[in-house]
Amino acid sequence: MSAVPLRNNKAAASAVRTVSVLGATGSIGDSTMDLLRASPDRYQVEALTANTNVEGLAKLAREFGARYAAVADPDRLGALKDALAGTRTECGAGESAIIEAAARPADWVMAAVSGAAGLKPALAAVDRGASVALANKECLVCAGDFFMQRAAKAGACILPADSEHNALFQALGSGNREELVRVIITASGGPFRTWAAADIEQATLAQALKHPNWSMGQKITIDSASMMNKGLEVIEASYLFALTPDEIDVLVHPQSIIHGMVEFSDRSVVAQLGAPDMRTPIAHCLGWPDRIVGPAAKLDLAKIGQLTFEEPDFGRFPGLRLAYDALRTGRGATTVFNAANEVAVAAFIGGKIRFGAIARLVEATMNDWVRSGNLAPLTSADDAIAVDHNARNKAATLLPQIALKAS
Ligand code: NAD
Ligand code: MG
Repeated sequence: MSAVPLRNNKAAASAVRTVSVLGATGSIGDSTMDLLRASPDRYQVEALTANTNVEGLAKLAREFGARYAAVADPDRLGALKDALAGTRTECGAGESAIIEAAARPADWVMAAVSGAAGLKPALAAVDRGASVALANKECLVCAGDFFMQRAAKAGACILPADSEHNALFQALGSGNREELVRVIITASGGPFRTWAAADIEQATLAQALKHPNWSMGQKITIDSASMMNKGLEVIEASYLFALTPDEIDVLVHPQSIIHGMVEFSDRSVVAQLGAPDMRTPIAHCLGWPDRIVGPAAKLDLAKIGQLTFEEPDFGRFPGLRLAYDALRTGRGATTVFNAANEVAVAAFIGGKIRFGAIARLVEATMNDWVRSGNLAPLTSADDAIAVDHNARNKAATLLPQIALKAS
């Protein structure tokens, strides 16, 4: 049985739900807390986590009366305890505390840590059969099929929170698997959609952080500019919905109103639309299997006037091509793709490489890994973490020569 549920096979949610938010201080965390804030009688907050932002975490824990708050930085336990003095919130610090936050008994967990660091916490929630709203695509790309198999085994319900995948989740219910022809994931095209390759090569951090439609965390905003984000999303869709690379198309749609579409055998195409506001897909996950009231702006198509579409350009945005390559190679290649991209983005933020070198570092790391012949299916979290670790080391080794090489 798939871990992504069908609408009609889940009992209605109970009146008060216990919820945990992993990555509560981030952009997705913020949107999630906004939804919880709107219905205080409906949700009891079990656990909240952050990386280093103790002040932000403590503020939320106080506001929502969280039972547990955990910060990933092990040196900040004292600061967290001080910030929560006089409350009943238990405190934890370090990676194990983030995992404990996920393992505590909440009905619904938002997995919104950024990067592969979110894998172990997401698995801890999955293993106890929780409903897991999955925003963190990197953990799925890192662990691949194994993540979904583990979720199915534990009876966990994976609710796709990424806007495109949430759209597919909503549209897929219109037909059966045998009737599905393909899914279409839309992409805004990011800030460099119309830029020449030579200009993209030299783009600055400030330019990469200017997303035309979405307000998001730093890593995903840079991934959107390189279209690595769309590549990660192609892989994410493949694992979430058990689709082959040939069944997933990307369509550039600069207005970000249609988030995803599913084509069926009778040539019906079912789409989900909405203003570009993450509170809509998160509200869908939070309300599942019912629908709750969402705070996003009402969609006014007459005011928007035109929805336009373009083919993606695999030449100017090689990250998208590399993602399909990784998916076709399988056996850990998507783990390498993700790990190398995380290293490359950090290097770009740190001013060590040009924007154009992000994809070159990912490609060089993937080529090295294929040449090494260490290709085997991932069968455990430890397998995925080992491949991730080795790929990060390799990318770090390749970094200086990539940094020197002009495009
Ligand atoms: P963000 O950088 O704004 O927030 C990340 C959160 O994770 C923060 O709370 C941070 O404290 C925490 N965190 C970071 N590193 C950590 C670590 N090593 N250990 C523990 N906690 C850590 O990121 P975001 O934009 O909210 O994105 C979160 C995830 O959701 C990403 O995987 C992203 O791809 C995905 N996503 C985001 C959006 C969006 O609109 N922001 C949309 C779709 C998917
Ligand atoms: Mg998305």
